[in-house]
Amino acid sequence: MSQPTRQDWEARASKLQIEGRAFIDGQYVNASAGQTFDCISPVDGRFLAKVASCDAADAELAVRSARAAFESGVWSRQAPAARKAVMIRFSELLEQHAEELALLETLDMGKPIGDSLNVDLPGSVDSIRWSGEAIDKVYDEVAATSHDQLGLVTREAVGVVAAIVPWNFPLMMASWKLGPALATGNSVILKPSERSPLTAIRIAQLAIEAGLPKGVLNVLPGYGHTVGSALALHMDVDTVVFTGSTKIAKQLMVYAGESNMKRVWLEAGGKSPNIVFADAPDLQAAAESAAAAIAFNQGEVCTAGSRLLVEKSIKAEFLPLVVEAMKGWKAGHPLDPETNVGALVDSRQLEQVLGYIEAGKAEGAKILTGGQRVLEETGGTYVEPTLFDGVSNAMKIAREEIFGPVLSVIEFEDAEEAVRIANDTPYGLAAAVWTRDISKAHLTARALRAGSVWVNMYDGGDMTAPFGGFKQSGNGRDKSLHAFDKYTELKATWIKL
Ligand code: NAD
Repeated sequence: MSQPTRQDWEARASKLQIEGRAFIDGQYVNASAGQTFDCISPVDGRFLAKVASCDAADAELAVRSARAAFESGVWSRQAPAARKAVMIRFSELLEQHAEELALLETLDMGKPIGDSLNVDLPGSVDSIRWSGEAIDKVYDEVAATSHDQLGLVTREAVGVVAAIVPWNFPLMMASWKLGPALATGNSVILKPSERSPLTAIRIAQLAIEAGLPKGVLNVLPGYGHTVGSALALHMDVDTVVFTGSTKIAKQLMVYAGESNMKRVWLEAGGKSPNIVFADAPDLQAAAESAAAAIAFNQGEVCTAGSRLLVEKSIKAEFLPLVVEAMKGWKAGHPLDPETNVGALVDSRQLEQVLGYIEAGKAEGAKILTGGQRVLEETGGTYVEPTLFDGVSNAMKIAREEIFGPVLSVIEFEDAEEAVRIANDTPYGLAAAVWTRDISKAHLTARALRAGSVWVNMYDGGDMTAPFGGFKQSGNGRDKSLHAFDKYTELKATWIKL
């Protein structure tokens, strides 16, 4: 079967019936105050939908519904194998609706349709399915007690989980939370970003169709400072799981302290170093990977390889390869299947990215390629992938998360200096090392303060390994069985025999 063309996607877009209401207690409802906001596409500025702008009153309704579902045991006390069946069915429905969901994602936040379809959707499906499949294969423990006692170490669902997620991989970030949260028996209130609410709203219906009882998944679109903070301050929310900026992550810790000391798990920002040593096995591959690490998803990636650390002795040879590779990443219409760089999420993000490009120039860094807004006539928000040379790690563009396709090249003399620069950041999400020396690879990987380290590759990972950050990139981990820690409390039960 031939792949849909841009015209095919446009035709489908024109027929979409976009749901913008909140999903509370098993049904779509307007925000109780009747407020809405306009969802505008960054692709070309088209209006997509009016979306419910929920507030504290809606948070209250959703928490009550979630709590009632949890206490009733309709989901929380189902056998793990029964929950597994629903989760798998849910993943199948996501798969069946992949094209519709991918289209919504692309229209809503501007990423290329090929990425929505081939990266975001499979990643989302996988998280739901993997977590469901795992849940009837994990066992609790019996403690090594004396003969006259029995010590049971069991895991229990925490209860009501608020999942607050960002806009860069809207459905996938939501799914990284929903998979383990639901599989372990919790009730969830999902708060998508106000900049990309559509897929979260849509999948609520699919979850019900899959057999999830009402109240177990509620979706509250709206702003962070209204419904987001209401959830984070709520006395009857047991856990907040978050992906987003470090600034808001810190705020959520404050909210927890000001309310019920709810558990707070944070996946936050990054400024990841990609270290290329002179003995990298393949400089061409390293250059292509460096370009992809900053241009994929318009650089709106928490693990974006935004600091390219290059050993001085190969810089003259290596940088032209990177420039060439960057030119292969070109902003285009996100519904064109050939496009590999889409629109930035909105005009605020565009201003932010252009502002950083100006800051780089003002601090004396030199642009080797890119640096401009493009395709302005479309009404969309597009920026050229941009490469800065002559960056010092003290510059603003090397210290702050730009969240756009802007790459800074920083040179180093030796491994010690590379590690020092790499770790000289408040963040600690990811890092990469390119070398053919196995000892150097291991020693550098050990020295890097980051939750994921890649050797001779960038951005590897699947459901089998934990994902998350050191330092101000967060705490706790998404993916793998380790993710279940966030959604369960450990209980020790002692029995006198
Ligand atoms: P953000 O922090 O601005 O917003 C994230 C979410 O928090 C949104 O849903 C927002 O509405 C909500 N929010 C905002 N203020 C709030 C408040 N006061 N109380 C409660 N909720 C509030 O982040 P963003 O701009 O949506 O996303 C980009 C950020 O996400 C980047 O920093 C990126 O690195 C990070 N990110 C991290 C990971 C990871 O796994 N570590 C993955 C993807 C994105």
